[in-house]
Amino acid sequence: MTSLLFTHATVVTMDPAQPLLQDAYVSVDGPKITFVGTARPFGDYDREIDCTGKVLMPGFVNAHTHVPMVAMRGYGDGNDLQDWLNHYIFPVEARWDDRAAACCADLGLAEMIASGVTCIADMYMRTGVIAQRVAAAGISANLSVGGVLFSDTFDPGTDHDCIALRELTEQWHGYDDGRILADASIHAEYTSRPAMWDWTAAYARDHGLGMHVHISETRSEHEACIARHGRTPIQVLDDHGVWDGRAIAAHCVWTTPEDWAVMAAKGVSAVHNPMSNLKLGSGIAPIPAMRKAGVNVCLGTDGVSSNNCTDLFGDMKLAAILHNGANCDPLALLPGDALSMATVNGAKALGRHTGVVANGYAADLILVDFSRLNLTPCHSVISNLVYAAHGCDVVMNMARGKVIYENGEFLTLDLDRIRREVEGYALPKLFG
Ligand SMILES: [Zn+2]
Repeated sequence: MTSLLFTHATVVTMDPAQPLLQDAYVSVDGPKITFVGTARPFGDYDREIDCTGKVLMPGFVNAHTHVPMVAMRGYGDGNDLQDWLNHYIFPVEARWDDRAAACCADLGLAEMIASGVTCIADMYMRTGVIAQRVAAAGISANLSVGGVLFSDTFDPGTDHDCIALRELTEQWHGYDDGRILADASIHAEYTSRPAMWDWTAAYARDHGLGMHVHISETRSEHEACIARHGRTPIQVLDDHGVWDGRAIAAHCVWTTPEDWAVMAAKGVSAVHNPMSNLKLGSGIAPIPAMRKAGVNVCLGTDGVSSNNCTDLFGDMKLAAILHNGANCDPLALLPGDALSMATVNGAKALGRHTGVVANGYAADLILVDFSRLNLTPCHSVISNLVYAAHGCDVVMNMARGKVIYENGEFLTLDLDRIRREVEGYALPKLFG
């Protein structure tokens, strides 16, 4: 078991007991944090990292992603969600094969790792391939198959997405002491049917899985659901038991106070994706009101194709300023709230003991270089992190006690090979 000691660190812990520590020590043994404090702990360590001039903090939890969609960065810009999906994204997605999905997953993971993400909740297809790439990259992931059903007949024994969920669960759920978890998933209310909701909810319950669903992303989707079922997406899925276990609802732009009451009562976490929602013209999710209603709100980038990058610092800043502007209130969402959404709230949403720098938590840690021009001077560490930092200020990423990225170098991914594969194979396959 490798041991490591961070010394002379400014630590943003996200632990209410000691939120910010100066000149502190953090020790890591194997996959876990074993000490956090200002006195040097006893013992020898395999490695010491001097953190002078840097901030040590929890790695980000990107709670809503579609990792291989990095291939579609900038493709189909300027359309709303339905046109973008039907005329650009779905036709390209029909061309995936495992080899293309693998190298694009690698590319997406590399971008996230370099900008400080240590944990993701991903919804996509070819999840066995994504699981292999996550396993190799070193971060943690809740992976799900976004279940779709457009037909009125449904047989879970032969349905492609049900088979894929069973395979994902059997082959990957709990891998490497829970580093990879399978979540059940319904892509969205408007892309599926009640028979699939019932089966997926029962499968999640029987196998102890979480749930991951797109909810009320656009007004037309939300209103069409009410016209179809007489209920909002949150409510009609609740009728079918979809929220009975741990669950994450992505977007929630058009959700109502009645929806928030269901979410708070059932413990459904909302994933805020402000960059994607603004880019696609979907709207502004009522995040401060949802938080007041007791909903756990976390943060996601959504797929690169609708963002157009996976730098969670960008979504964190946008979340922190967007709601102030929308509500004409500079206190509508505090920078500390945005930081919680990107770390500890995401950990809760994904059912993981991470997102906090405290004894016993997963050693998912990043170092941010505060000697950079854009972080100088520093009147407030939290303010600089949320309003002024970029993903490229991250100089180290440790996932479960292993340094996987340091000073621009990837230690688990071969960037030259990934670039060759993406440019030489995946892009011609998808767009050629
Ligand atoms: Zn999405």
